[in-house]
Amino acid sequence: MAGAGIGIQCVLSDPGIKEWFVSLGTLYVVATPIGNLDDISVRAQRTLREVALIAAEDTRHSLRLLQHFGIETPLAACHEHNEREQGGRFLARLLAGDDVALVSDAGTPLISDPGYHLVRQARAAGIAVVPVPGPCALIAGLSAAGLPSDRFIFEGFLPAKTVGRRSRLEALREEPRTLIFYEAPHRLLECLQDMAEVFGEERQAVLARELTKTFETIKGIPLGELRDWVAADSNQQRGECVLLLAGWEAPEAEGVDSESLRVLDLLLAELPVKRAAALAAEITGLRKNLLYQAALERKAE
Ligand code: SAM
Repeated sequence: MAGAGIGIQCVLSDPGIKEWFVSLGTLYVVATPIGNLDDISVRAQRTLREVALIAAEDTRHSLRLLQHFGIETPLAACHEHNEREQGGRFLARLLAGDDVALVSDAGTPLISDPGYHLVRQARAAGIAVVPVPGPCALIAGLSAAGLPSDRFIFEGFLPAKTVGRRSRLEALREEPRTLIFYEAPHRLLECLQDMAEVFGEERQAVLARELTKTFETIKGIPLGELRDWVAADSNQQRGECVLLLAGWEAPEAEGVDSESLRVLDLLLAELPVKRAAALAAEITGLRKNLLYQAALERKAE
């Protein structure tokens, strides 16, 4: 793309003092639709049209997208199995001054998709890496889920086997931020079952399925109900989905039960607040601070 390369100027200590100029290409990381082709941006289309080469997760898949938009740029495979080895091939083009676009099958490259090694290698080689942002399933799901969105964590795909999945979920049990997962449709039900067991049936959950497509479904109910709803309707076990869970909320501070209050009152009648609270804590097993607070309130009354 005109004017996009980085210029490196080098003055040689030759009698004639020559100047030479090397222009590196730019690596564009281009987001593509996650279902609805209208979601491709004008800038993404222009970039894909103007670069010299498109590095694609699946060239046949991306060819259909390019044909739809009448884009004729050549494609080359850049998937998880060849990314490390083939990175050099794309780097060579970039170093020679060609602009390259990186795309995945859907959404934003590198988000549970290939591209990390190429981006890292390009940056290490001093090549400009420019994002062309756009669709991303986790962000689309979060934006419509109605769960707290100020802080969230994205866990990508959970391990496919039950033991690994359960231990990952256990580690997230007391995570206070909104949790976001990608899940394959054939594992959705067992995943919901494990989640309900680890996080509890009442934890608020949202299933965001087939986003931007004809059968888009966004269902937000407690985990146990969501599991039963999915189990009862096999249509919900098809297509692509994002699972979102409300973060963990610390249980409300425990109160002082009436029996403990009676003990506290008896002691308060005879002793100073601090001493009464300490003794009441020993007798009832409740926390001293909690009883001290309660004692202050009763004195104020
Ligand atoms: N890079 C993509 C992105 O930006 O979202 C994600 C690629 S990852 C290999 C594919 C997973 O993303 C699917 O298994 C599903 O969990 C989620 N996903 C992709 N498209 C989706 C859609 N239209 N609706 C719901 N989830 C989707």
